[in-house]
Amino acid sequence: LRSRHVPYGDIPKTPDLKRAYDVVIIGGGGHGLAAAYYLSNVHGITNVAVLEKGYLAGGNTARNTTTIRSNYMTPESVAFYKEGVELYETMSQDLGFNIMFSQRGQLTLAHSEATLRSFHLRAEMGKYMGTKIEVVDVQTVRDLCPDLNLDIGGQHEILGGLWHADGGTARHDAVAWGYAKHAAARGVEIHQRTEVLGLGKTGDRVTEIKTNRGTIAAGQVLQAVGGLNGQVAELAGIKLPIRCFPLQAMVTQPLKPFLNTLVSSANLHTYLVQSSRGEIVIGGGSDPYQLASTRSTLDQKEHLAEGALHLFPFLHKVKLLRQWAGITDMTPDYSPIMGASPLSNYWLDCGWGTWGFKATPVAGKRMAETIATGRVPDILKPFDMRRFDNFALLNEMGATAASH
Ligand code: FAD
Repeated sequence: LRSRHVPYGDIPKTPDLKRAYDVVIIGGGGHGLAAAYYLSNVHGITNVAVLEKGYLAGGNTARNTTTIRSNYMTPESVAFYKEGVELYETMSQDLGFNIMFSQRGQLTLAHSEATLRSFHLRAEMGKYMGTKIEVVDVQTVRDLCPDLNLDIGGQHEILGGLWHADGGTARHDAVAWGYAKHAAARGVEIHQRTEVLGLGKTGDRVTEIKTNRGTIAAGQVLQAVGGLNGQVAELAGIKLPIRCFPLQAMVTQPLKPFLNTLVSSANLHTYLVQSSRGEIVIGGGSDPYQLASTRSTLDQKEHLAEGALHLFPFLHKVKLLRQWAGITDMTPDYSPIMGASPLSNYWLDCGWGTWGFKATPVAGKRMAETIATGRVPDILKPFDMRRFDNFALLNEMGATAASH
């Protein structure tokens, strides 16, 4: 795959829909496009249509704060996300497209002894699984992030941190465009402004995909529609254990570089990273109510500003440039649902909530493998939706919190 050059230029215009495809991917976000890339470039399956109701990767892929990391709690999650980080490390070369991967490391702050204890558990799991992770003391926190306010007015004194040297960021649009260009170059059709409105079934198969541009058939169907995963699954008669919540973020005006790591505080429900343009990207937890809306709110702006100012008080005169929201599809255990559905030709890549950008390459790669071979690879098996019936949950709430 390495260094194959695909010329720059536009993604081809949306063509007319054919009557049938070998594979239809519902959702042209990062995950759907990555799956299209691996299907066409690795497995040689090119009679593929990606159906996107809006513009290319304009959903959560366009709205996320691009944290990439593998410092999770369970061995199943660490193994999966570690493969994702490794794919990011070579993605610019693999795609011949600069995705601006910046592996600056992620620092998660401990404001209590209880948090430090949980960090030790995560660090031991991460080391055992081969990731770069360690619990660090206050002096090391100061060395990693000299401008951080360590006492935070006495309220949330910083006692140490979890340092994950593998952590980083990448340019979200470039990831999606890189995959789209290579998939399109192999003949995958990308249909923008094409919304799936209904799914017709015969027995245990989806046989009809009804869109605003006509009805098509498919041998296999992959659903990867971000915040709307619960709603689209219902079109196929599948009830997913997913609820959707808005998630907001904002950026400041550009500043001289001062923040060399990603910094996150679960106690303050705030995380910050400085973008390559100098803007400070600020995010936090989901909104506290269920809603499928991308409107941002004053409440959340105040909350994020408060957390950011506790950590970096000197930002108090800095102006905000933008604030936005995405819709996140949250599962009860804060882990995704990947693999089989109750229907024999309908595959799920969903429940990505607030943490799915980092998984874009690995989910695409492994879902493509699943569709191409008809077998769910071992690395995906723990994420099967039946885990909620079998009480085999993958609880990642503590490792997700405000770290994304
Ligand atoms: P999306 O990018 O949402 O793509 C799904 C696509 O499906 C959309 O383009 C949508 O228009 C389309 N679609 C929906 N319904 C239909 C239909 N009926 N027919 C056709 N198309 C349809 N993750 C991280 O790893 N790190 C982070 O730092 C991080 N920060 C985040 C910050 C914010 C503010 C938000 C909102 C999310 C964040 N996330 C983060 C989560 C991450 O953005 C998502 O989990 C990830 O982008 C999901 O990718 P996707 O391709 O599955 O979904």
